[in-house]
Amino acid sequence: MATLTSITNTKTNMAAISTGAIDENDCKKPETFVLVEPYEECDAERQVCLSKRMIEFQEHLTERTSHLLGYHLNLSCNHLMDLSPLLRFHINNVGDPFKESNLGLHSKKFEVEVLDWFAQLWEIEKDEYWGYVTNGGTEGNLQALLLGRELLPDGILYTSRESHYSIFKAARMYRMDYQIISTLTTGEIDCDDLRAKLILNKDKPAIINVNIGTTFKGAIDDLDLIIKTLEECGFSDKQFYIHCDAALYGLITPFLGQAPKISFKKPISSVSVSAHKLLGSAMPCGVHITRKRYIGLFSESIEYIATVDATISGSRNGHTPIFIWYVLNIKGYKGIQQDVRKCLMNARYLRDGLRNAGISTMLNEMSIVVVFERPLDHEFLNYWQLSCLENMAHVVVMPHVTIKMLDDFLDDLVQKRNIWYDGYGDVQPPCLAKDIGVSNCSCLDHGNGLIDGN
Ligand SMILES: *Cc1c(COP(=O)(O)O)cnc(C)c1O
Repeated sequence: MATLTSITNTKTNMAAISTGAIDENDCKKPETFVLVEPYEECDAERQVCLSKRMIEFQEHLTERTSHLLGYHLNLSCNHLMDLSPLLRFHINNVGDPFKESNLGLHSKKFEVEVLDWFAQLWEIEKDEYWGYVTNGGTEGNLQALLLGRELLPDGILYTSRESHYSIFKAARMYRMDYQIISTLTTGEIDCDDLRAKLILNKDKPAIINVNIGTTFKGAIDDLDLIIKTLEECGFSDKQFYIHCDAALYGLITPFLGQAPKISFKKPISSVSVSAHKLLGSAMPCGVHITRKRYIGLFSESIEYIATVDATISGSRNGHTPIFIWYVLNIKGYKGIQQDVRKCLMNARYLRDGLRNAGISTMLNEMSIVVVFERPLDHEFLNYWQLSCLENMAHVVVMPHVTIKMLDDFLDDLVQKRNIWYDGYGDVQPPCLAKDIGVSNCSCLDHGNGLIDGN
């Protein structure tokens, strides 16, 4: 009913525009843009209104871009404007990237070059890997766990409780048995608990999801220790499948000396990364790489698309492989390394600022995710677009985040905290000892309890 009314109003508005009896503010009213059939007699005005609406939306995006701190997105995408002429074309990479289809509107040559780059990064030979450009980290995880289950049909999935929700979704979709492994305070998988659960289920193969950076705390599971644990529990490499969910850190750990390396020289089976995260892209996308010898099992020749189907999606975005290809060309390995260094430094800067203001804070070593006390009000969370978990919030210090943004954020937080916790009221900052460890907690019991300015 409500929709009908607004459509009627819209028609009235459109008619009013055509007779010039509308003041231009009416263009701003959202109901003006409930989708209606264009009126021939007011095409020109309609075009003005549409353009205006698009400009307003861009202004909105610009404002939201300059206040995004809580999500794993690199919003520095201006260079992709160079590729805007491609928006005139439909580009569709349906099917296997290594097999041409007779649908000629594809960018598979670019896609394969992108895959080669990642294969080299994660140390697997060109003729030994298979992969594709996905819609993002989730699709990579869905692809990987399906492959794991097909290879080891009665395998049990082991994954830490701080894994991304897409892992649990995959387990439900594929009706897999799974074991949830506990985590350390840092957010890393607890290998003692993993060992205990592996031993209890020694008769079944193991499908292990390794978090190369958990979503909330940015904790990197110790891949080497996980492999060692499997071996010590008596699992041969035919009895396990290791997937590395490297959504964010797949492009960070290669630049860090100390982090366990993601490498197919180790007995891992697949890796996925989100390309809109560290690398940055105007649309969600990702890269998934696995061993070529697995995939034969899985691929089916489909007459209708005249190629082979081995991917979760049918039609696949043909623009995003070019975005990734272009950014890799512009930045190169060195440029990404510089981004990573800047992010690590800025993350430490924010951690120190929060600590100096007496706010509970944790930053894992090698991490760009700063975890801190959950801000009290919704407006503040929305303004800075922070995501929260229980008593915690986090800032993901991505390449678009500048020191200026962090300073503004800190000033705003310190000022608002003085209002939330006025020093006299009953409301006190929460204790975060169990979430981030006693030494990182600044609550009244564990820290000095000082609130900046009091
Ligand atoms: C973001 C994230 C994902 C999902 O990636 P999308 O690109 O959003 O689908 C998966 N795993 C982890 C650890 C993540 O942080």
